[in-house]
Amino acid sequence: MKLSEWRQLVQEHGCLEMVSRLLERIEKSKLNAYITVCREESLRRAEEYDKGKVKGRLAGVPVAVKDNITTKGIKTTCASKMLSNYIPVFDAHVVERLKEEGAIIIGKTNMDEFGMGTTTETSYFGVVRNPYDLSRVAGGSSGGSAAVLAGEEAILALGSDTGGSIRCPASFCGVYGLKPTYGLVSRYGLIPYANSLEQIGPMANSIEDLALLLEVIAGKDERDSTNAGRGFKFSESKEFRIAVVKNMTAEDQIMDRFYDTLNGFEYEEIELPSLKYALAAYYVIAMSEASSNLARYDGVRYGYSVPELTSWGDYFSRVRAEGFGEEVKRRIMLGSYALSAGYYGKYYLKALKARTLIIEDFRRAFGDFDILVSPTMPTLPFKIGELRDPLTMYKMDVNTVPVNLAGLPALNVPIGFIRGLPVGIQVIGNYFEESKILSFAKRIAAE
Ligand code: GLN
Repeated sequence: MKLSEWRQLVQEHGCLEMVSRLLERIEKSKLNAYITVCREESLRRAEEYDKGKVKGRLAGVPVAVKDNITTKGIKTTCASKMLSNYIPVFDAHVVERLKEEGAIIIGKTNMDEFGMGTTTETSYFGVVRNPYDLSRVAGGSSGGSAAVLAGEEAILALGSDTGGSIRCPASFCGVYGLKPTYGLVSRYGLIPYANSLEQIGPMANSIEDLALLLEVIAGKDERDSTNAGRGFKFSESKEFRIAVVKNMTAEDQIMDRFYDTLNGFEYEEIELPSLKYALAAYYVIAMSEASSNLARYDGVRYGYSVPELTSWGDYFSRVRAEGFGEEVKRRIMLGSYALSAGYYGKYYLKALKARTLIIEDFRRAFGDFDILVSPTMPTLPFKIGELRDPLTMYKMDVNTVPVNLAGLPALNVPIGFIRGLPVGIQVIGNYFEESKILSFAKRIAAE
């Protein structure tokens, strides 16, 4: 449901009634998209809205928040056993902004554990199901945030994207999802997976809704040292120089649909040669950063703990052995290895060099073009349990990770269905040119 439809219904029936209906729908849902539903607080906020007490650009609008974004007094688990009882004492910057604009935080959405995955199958709380086919995955890692939009269990949602985690589930669930330019949205309160790659971003059922949510969450925040200190205001552009990135591909049926969508647009085809290093560089960098970030989970100050405290070493390893899932442990081990003395130069440093080549490729391309397009995902949503080995799973990110390595903004635009399953294309823009991306997406939607 779009924001305008929600507002219409609220006008007719009142916010309390509409939020109650939404909560009922969530209760009956088969999607497993929420880890926590904020029932009482949502009803209270809705009542306040009906009394005319709530002001702001998102007044009375239910927003779902990915469960790696901290919410004061509301459990924030990262879909991990390690944090299954963690109740933050502070709000993330983006949550402060939502509250300032009158939004209702309806719940916290399911995800891959610590964001590590492409299907939401690594969640400690079970897999999220695709609203278009319950036997298939919703994508990941922000699978819950995409599924609640497609399944009409929220009006807007926040996700986070380290290597595709907003765009992939948006593509698999047929919704809009934007990974903003690195530094546009504060990461204060985003529980880190790989800091140099990730951004919090808006997800929605329309471009207008997405633009509004981005306007609310973007902006200056001194608590994130990488914050660019600039806001976002959507302004429409009409002219674009468009290029298709030929070495970002997908299955034939998706490519056919992709080119159908571009029919009527003038575009050139280009290749970015260093993209062949992107997947390897991404996984080395992401796992290295993860291994360092996740070292903080020692079961002492917060998070999962075990009762008998024997020696420090035993305690620490038991907490981590029991608290982390398999994929998280795999990445901590591989990341520690890549950063270890003797291997640092061979893996981590080399990955950083490849990252620079990729940045330069994009920089050159944006000298000639405003918009680069590709399919978002190489395949349609797969069956739950279908992807068994990690490497096959990692390869699914081939079109999305280059954007994170370069820190660029990119949007998934839904372009219809193949055999009842959603397909999306990825629209990439130059730094801080989210407005151009959204304007182009509007044109696609109108064609
Ligand atoms: N699938 C990618 C990974 O597992 C991306 C995840 C993300 O963006 N959080 O690292």
